[in-house]
Amino acid sequence: MSKVITHWINGSPADGGSRTQEIFNPATGEVSGTVTMATAADVDAAVAAAVAAWPQWRDASLVKRSQVLFRYRELMYAHRDELAALIFAEHGKVHSDALGEVARGLEVVEFACGIPHLLKGGFSEGVSTRVDSYSIRQPLGVVAGITPFNFPAMVPMWMFPIAIACGNAFILKPSEKDPSASLLMARLWQEAGLPDGVFGVVQGDKVAVDRLLEHPDVKAVSFVGSTPIARYVYETGTAHGKRVQALGGAKNHMLVLPDADLDLVADSAVSAGFGSAGERCMAISVVLAVDPVGDDLVKKIVERVDKLVIGPGDDPRSEMGPLVTGPHRDKVASYLDLGVSEGATLVVDGRQTQVLGGAAAAETPGFWLGPTVLDHVPAGSRVHTEEIFGPVLSIVRVSSYEEGLQLINGLEFGNGTAVFTNDGGAARRFQNEVEVGMVGINVPIPVPMAFYSFGGWKASLFGDTHVHGTEGVHFYTRGKVVTSRWLDPSHGGVNLGFPTNK
Ligand code: NAD
Repeated sequence: MSKVITHWINGSPADGGSRTQEIFNPATGEVSGTVTMATAADVDAAVAAAVAAWPQWRDASLVKRSQVLFRYRELMYAHRDELAALIFAEHGKVHSDALGEVARGLEVVEFACGIPHLLKGGFSEGVSTRVDSYSIRQPLGVVAGITPFNFPAMVPMWMFPIAIACGNAFILKPSEKDPSASLLMARLWQEAGLPDGVFGVVQGDKVAVDRLLEHPDVKAVSFVGSTPIARYVYETGTAHGKRVQALGGAKNHMLVLPDADLDLVADSAVSAGFGSAGERCMAISVVLAVDPVGDDLVKKIVERVDKLVIGPGDDPRSEMGPLVTGPHRDKVASYLDLGVSEGATLVVDGRQTQVLGGAAAAETPGFWLGPTVLDHVPAGSRVHTEEIFGPVLSIVRVSSYEEGLQLINGLEFGNGTAVFTNDGGAARRFQNEVEVGMVGINVPIPVPMAFYSFGGWKASLFGDTHVHGTEGVHFYTRGKVVTSRWLDPSHGGVNLGFPTNK
């Protein structure tokens, strides 16, 4: 029977508006269910439930909040296989990769369990004679998170554990392409003891997003998705007086210096290029091979790509699954011919890759495209600079470190990057000179741990606060400084002068 994915409002599934959209199984291309698409009235109902629930949660003690988070962590861990199964059924990534995303999301829950420590303020005794000052951080109220298809569990978990731990109510608007994980995560919050209404889910598209962006009771919005929508969300949300952090797209380059270990580089480029079919914002999509390593490196990459096993996510032999939708697969595949027309050499053609239990990717039902390698991609071409977001690895040959650095720093995006070298001085220079928010040194996917903050530079992030870590705590709270004096006989009467230190 085909499933129906609804909203989650005030602790229950809610059907809402009449619009629906189909959900697909990317491995077969078949429709597996439908998702209810929110109207503005549905969003208003979720916000109203959150507004009503918020005061009780805001006033819950830090220890009580922390205990709910600990329970949530245990429940999510116990249900990790179920969550991973929901993810691969709609996203297409292989089961082990789906488990990996759940594990990385859980690290943020674990970080948020320490909220009593994270919300400690400062205290200064005697800032003036018999006057004390202290700082506190308070929750904002109702906040919202709008998330992309590629990590239906992890990216929401970058946001809501910290928002909720800080004492806010949170409304999630997940991707309409893989919405099921959101409902399991909501049900587990209820089981963990979070009051109904504090966590809500509205399914949908631009209609839901626009209502969240203009709703006067939504105080802050976290967004993760493509750059054009991130820019729109940032501009619209801030124009409506909200605090906004909006993370956008990426085009992550790996700079390979001549002294690097080429076997490590090839392993890393293939893992980071084709894991999750390249549908990761931290995927490596371009290898900058500094002369003379190009020919050897491409040979090693192709040897590895030829051995990759492509198949459905629930087959334990599969290392890479399909893409998320038919239109997305077609868009990604269109870059193969474009690359050739721009002067690149198609070294491995993913349309011809054999799919487990099927035929060549292009002939197999479902949204298949195998790992593709384009060599001699011209610097500045569309294949080099545009976000493709699929299993396409481009090799750009460069003559020096400086030329490679210039290409990275000249890009629109600045999400992640990596340098591969055995020269500590070169690596240190790279980390200093590169204009990118997350840098790997012999690490191809340098995703910061939960206690650091995640975010890129330039068109990869709008706003000035990265997600999770202490920046997340800062984003979801407002600072207040209290100056207090308890009267004693030194009270000196009326003084119209500006308060200065005495
Ligand atoms: P997307 O921008 O299409 O969608 C993201 C969210 O915005 C979804 O919830 C979607 O429903 C909503 N949305 C889509 N169009 C909208 C519109 N016109 N108005 C308002 N809301 C709209 O992104 P996607 O395809 O789901 O995800 C892939 C993108 O996300 C890639 O660009 C990838 O790089 C990026 N991403 C970035 C990060 C990061 O940390 N920087 C992490 C993951 C994904």
